Amino acid sequence: MGKIALVLHGGAWDIPPDLVEPHRQGMEKAIAAGWKILQKGGSALDAVEASIIVMEDDETFNAGRGSFINAAGEVELDASIMNGATFRAGAVAAVQNVRNPITLARRVMEKSENVLLVGLGASRFAREQKVKLCSQDDLLTLRELDRWREMQSDPDFKSKDAFKKKRKASDTVGAVAVDKKGNIASGTSTGGTPNKHPGRVGDSPLIGAGTYADNSIGGVSTSGWGEAMIRVVMAKTVVDLMERHGGDPAKAVQEGLKILVRKVDGYGGVIALNASGEVGIAFNTPRMARAYMHTGIAEPVALV
Ligand code: ASP
Repeated sequence: MGKIALVLHGGAWDIPPDLVEPHRQGMEKAIAAGWKILQKGGSALDAVEASIIVMEDDETFNAGRGSFINAAGEVELDASIMNGATFRAGAVAAVQNVRNPITLARRVMEKSENVLLVGLGASRFAREQKVKLCSQDDLLTLRELDRWREMQSDPDFKSKDAFKKKRKASDTVGAVAVDKKGNIASGTSTGGTPNKHPGRVGDSPLIGAGTYADNSIGGVSTSGWGEAMIRVVMAKTVVDLMERHGGDPAKAVQEGLKILVRKVDGYGGVIALNASGEVGIAFNTPRMARAYMHTGIAEPVALV
């Protein structure tokens, strides 16, 4: 059996002290869910989806329930998943009324001929595929409603670069796994940025920006200021760096972040693993919720 490994993030940002413990606990639950699958010989895709569903269902994170609310008072979700064995990928963006967008992204990959469906078309596809739909209320939390109300009365927050200046990234979630067959998968899911313009799409559902997987090299998922991540095609850039550095994921994520800062003054975090199950994690935000587990260590590590 090859080395199996799973690495997760639960968002790169300035996580306040009172939210550190809920994040750590959420990461522990999510890694347990994915690891159980890998340990039983399950696929990297199943492990990635299972871990992300746990985080989407946990309102601590900005994905699924508990996501940020956009400027129109609605929750619009982005998610993507990629199969490193086949280069197939699926994604949804600005989709409403879907409880687990990562599952819908996987359906796009497996049950359609497309890679990315957006907005109403994505919700329509969810109905066709009998993917669980929900009301806006099911995705809203009091915490986010309060945050949203506060932003409506704060003109600075509406300014274009307030998100960037305040380093207010969010709890976007992501996972990368390698299974016993050596197949690599990665996925990312988010509610985007607080008070975002309706229809705004970040890096998370864009293959190459937020998510990438290639069995012969490794897989990556990102979190942070999405507009910057898109401009440097962050996930694919880090996979390319991994290849250039002989498969070293730790070097690749460090160098990827340097490029992000140097070229577009970006910030955020990146998780990566290579085909041998080695893990790399880097971030330039004050904190990043993260967890990993691989063959050879006794217990999962969850850190915030
Ligand atoms: N990257 C996400 C976005 O821009 C947000 C985040 O990861 O914090 O939509």
